[in-house]
Amino acid sequence: MEEFLKQLPKLAKDKHKENKTFFTKLKKKTPKNLDYIMQDLHEEEFQQTDCLTCANCCKTTGPLFTTKDIERISKYFRQKPQQFIDNYLRIDEENDYVLQSVPCTFLGADNYCSIYEVRPKACREFPHTDRKKFQQISNLTMKNVAICPAAYNIVEEMKRKIKF
Ligand code: SF4
Ligand code: SF4
Repeated sequence: MEEFLKQLPKLAKDKHKENKTFFTKLKKKTPKNLDYIMQDLHEEEFQQTDCLTCANCCKTTGPLFTTKDIERISKYFRQKPQQFIDNYLRIDEENDYVLQSVPCTFLGADNYCSIYEVRPKACREFPHTDRKKFQQISNLTMKNVAICPAAYNIVEEMKRKIKF
């Protein structure tokens, strides 16, 4: 996994043009069963890829925190939401609450998340490869393939499976 993670930014860069063309076609000619295809690809990939050997999303990007996330997590810490914000979060260019620093403060050396049960929605959903209408998040996915080995593999498999 470590070797793959090292190579991933370059691999993703090399595939960027091809991916862009593919996602443009996907938007124009979306297969009717795309949601099912994505569900299968996502499940197959995550049967092979163990996030605990990776944690690259937690190490390099970190999630945005919704108001609900902040309420839930601060309650877990028995803190006031504002206290939690002051301790861990900042507001980014898009006016969202994000971590003050990465790797994420809640990530352990063993790659376990110390707030797993109450982690932000964005962490639960990353890399979004099983979401409905996947064609609508192509720009985000093209960024994610440079961070997430599973997303990279899923997009490569999509290109093999879906021919235009
Ligand atoms: S979601 Fe992707 S980047 Fe995050 S730990 Fe799993 S494989 Fe790694
Ligand atoms: S909250 Fe947990 S899952 Fe989310 S980035 Fe931090 S360590 Fe990773």
